[in-house]
Amino acid sequence: MYLGQFDYKNDVFGYYRAKHTKAWYEDLNSGINYVGSDSLLNEVLTFFDDSLDYCHYDFEGDSYADAINIVYVGTPKAWAKGLWPHAGHVGQVKDSILLVRYEMTNLASTFSLGTFVHESGHMIFGWPDLYYFGDYCAMGSGTANSPKAPVSPNDFFRADQGWIPLNDVSSTIFSAETTNSSNGYIFKNPSNSDEGYFWSYVKGGWKRWSYLSGSMGLLVFHYNLAEQGNSSPEHLRLRVIEADGGNELLASMVPEPGHAYDLFNEYTQSTLINPLWYDNTESGLRITQIGNPAGTITFTMEGPGSSSSSTTISSSSGTTMILKNEAMGASNFDHRSERFDLLGRNNQQRQD
Ligand SMILES: [Zn+2]
Repeated sequence: MYLGQFDYKNDVFGYYRAKHTKAWYEDLNSGINYVGSDSLLNEVLTFFDDSLDYCHYDFEGDSYADAINIVYVGTPKAWAKGLWPHAGHVGQVKDSILLVRYEMTNLASTFSLGTFVHESGHMIFGWPDLYYFGDYCAMGSGTANSPKAPVSPNDFFRADQGWIPLNDVSSTIFSAETTNSSNGYIFKNPSNSDEGYFWSYVKGGWKRWSYLSGSMGLLVFHYNLAEQGNSSPEHLRLRVIEADGGNELLASMVPEPGHAYDLFNEYTQSTLINPLWYDNTESGLRITQIGNPAGTITFTMEGPGSSSSSTTISSSSGTTMILKNEAMGASNFDHRSERFDLLGRNNQQRQD
């Protein structure tokens, strides 16, 4: 999924012709629920039960199989019901293996990665939907707007998995940094362990960020882990601090495209001075002298209590300390508590 940090392989077992028409599953229950998809899931698991051994999918030897993908032909009918793409809990034991999670994605006229990546993000990592967020993540609008080449998971999620280095600068007095697009910086609220600011260099037009062509600079997030997801503008687990201060992203659940003036650089907005914590106290964080976005970008940061006479610490942090994830398959969240543990995961959760 990302530079060899996470190896996600799928075996394809062929197709299963469902017992009923697609409309039957879509309309099995009139409410907002997945009764129809549960019915199809059970048919599929029963059909393939004799021909496959789930022991092959227990990479960690913990008797869990963590990922099952079901792709069906056609277009989903209505949001959050029937066969609408989603991830959820299986909870069945086969071959002494507990089938934990599955996702279901539709295949329209041709298969696109976008929805598959998004639902896999729910299924494997428990990542929430990032509404009011824009194109900056596969869990936001980034897959819908670029389904053939979906945007990556955002850097906050990637740092949480240990895929990119995370630099904790909470106690930084004064630091001039030059960074490329594989580093995350975190500034934590000393009074609230759920809260902090996070930023990284997002380089549009490059690899999985190709869709964000022309958008380059520091993408700054304000996170609040007390929130379960991004359910409303007032309840955001991960909020984009827009460089232009326009807050356009908050105006729509799925803002599009939303990236014109959101990233900090010397041409848009070169400083972020003392953004507030959620209790309206001052964070003391100062990111200044944000430079020209090129191969690398430079910026200066100061934390609380710093003064201009402080010692300058230079650090070139381009390629240091990439944590290699040894886990194969869909299971590396088990190691997360040894890392940053910024995000929880709930196996029972159903996510659209
Ligand atoms: Zn979703």
